[in-house]
Amino acid sequence: MSVAYEVVIGVEVHAQLRTQSKLFCPCGTTFGRTANSQTCPVCLGLPGSLPVINEKAVEMAVRAGLAMNGTIGVRNRFARKNYFYPDLPKGYQISQYEAPICEHGWIEIAAGGTRKRVRIRRAHLEEDAGKNVHEAGSGMSLVDLNRAGTPLLEIVTEPDLSSSEEVVAYLKALRELLMYLDVCDGNMEEGSFRCEPNLSLRPVGQAAYGTKVELKNINSFKFVKDAVEYEIKRQTKVLSEGGKVYQETRLWNHERGETAVMRSKEEAHDYRYFPDPDLVPLEISVERIELLRQGLPELASAKQARFTRDYGIPEYDAGILTSSRALSVYFDACVKLYPHPKTVSNWVMGELLRELNHAGI
Ligand code: ADP
Ligand code: MG
Ligand code: ZN
Repeated sequence: MSVAYEVVIGVEVHAQLRTQSKLFCPCGTTFGRTANSQTCPVCLGLPGSLPVINEKAVEMAVRAGLAMNGTIGVRNRFARKNYFYPDLPKGYQISQYEAPICEHGWIEIAAGGTRKRVRIRRAHLEEDAGKNVHEAGSGMSLVDLNRAGTPLLEIVTEPDLSSSEEVVAYLKALRELLMYLDVCDGNMEEGSFRCEPNLSLRPVGQAAYGTKVELKNINSFKFVKDAVEYEIKRQTKVLSEGGKVYQETRLWNHERGETAVMRSKEEAHDYRYFPDPDLVPLEISVERIELLRQGLPELASAKQARFTRDYGIPEYDAGILTSSRALSVYFDACVKLYPHPKTVSNWVMGELLRELNHAGI
């Protein structure tokens, strides 16, 4: 008799915040500069250097947390996550552990004809690591620390997703939200928006979760879909044959169309998290949070509702016209000049988008 399995997925996203300088030092964050040209004693981890928190990064994280319907921590703490790797000169990453900047949020997604709330467990600030460059044939590896110390917001969901469509819908909604807020450029190829789905199966009807696998190296929505679907098939096969799924990190290989083990998964206690003694707790006043809340732009869902209500255009049109902030602002401006919303909508969705797609803009 064959067992039916239910798919359980939770997603971790690392979104690079669009600050001009790094999270704890004044170095720039521009992508693609000469290796190690954007470094200083702090991000190089030189002895005696001290981190200073970037106020803009904190503001961006708070705005993102509020837009995700989360609760903002009024007393944040930074923690050291200890591990050794050549791209991490300090030997630890400054992150948040016990007191993250945001908890208990949610985002609504539409997939498979229904709407669903995906709960956000937490979002925390952390610094990025540098990059190891392995030059083929050179027999050596180089380290570029330009990215070391760049601010990231790590956003972690509850295991509320259950298909590749839902994962993609969630990631698109989250990316769009961060781009609306102008806190992340959303560039997946350059790694400004990185996602790691965690996936497990359990027999239908079983309450306890199965063992999860974390998927990495996914830098497009197409790969998200492919990797999740591959992994569902792989785990289904393992379990149906009486095998065991191991808790591990697997890398998506898009050329081979499969995932392969990268390492067995470490546990939180392996990192010896502890409060960073170089950074005092970060207190954000309730007044400050309220000011940031009032300054939030009109978000896609609100804009969509306004377009159908005030302009009388179909929900379908409103969905497309609000799929990017730029397009929605453009549409609003056009309707002001020519107050025939449906005509403008047809033209934007038809002629204009066709030309833009055609030109690859
Ligand atoms: P870790 O400490 O291994 O990173 P977490 O408990 O922090 O694990 O969860 C990381 C992500 O994995 C979260 O998005 C969470 O929802 C998801 N997750 C946790 N357990 C499971 C599971 N059994 N199956 C699928 N996803 C899971
Ligand atoms: Mg994790
Ligand atoms: Zn620096």
